[in-house]
Amino acid sequence: MVMQPYKGSCHCGAIQFSFEAEPITKGIRCNCSFCSKRGAMMHLVPGEKFQIDTKDDALNYYQFGKNQAKHYFCRNCGIHTFSETTRRPGQYIVNLGCVDGVDTFALETTMFDGKNLL
Ligand SMILES: [Zn+2]
Repeated sequence: MVMQPYKGSCHCGAIQFSFEAEPITKGIRCNCSFCSKRGAMMHLVPGEKFQIDTKDDALNYYQFGKNQAKHYFCRNCGIHTFSETTRRPGQYIVNLGCVDGVDTFALETTMFDGKNLL
């Protein structure tokens, strides 16, 4: 498969990110206590393909439970952009709703049972 460049951002644009991936046709939905409230479709991206460019100190993160993950969000607009977890070191879990040109309503859904696995 040919890798394709993707760009994403939070709502206000203070957090920008980019990565390369095979054309995105699927999204992961997780049923853990955090993801079920935020309802986002996610996608895994290897860390070496992921670049973050933020303004000032816009990037903050939220942790809960066993602190296995850092759920990054924008301090200004509150949008969750991506996460890092100790389950998948070196990978980012990107909120596809923040990625330009990806229609999350048109994607096939893969379920992740975070409720029981995390
Ligand atoms: Zn923002």
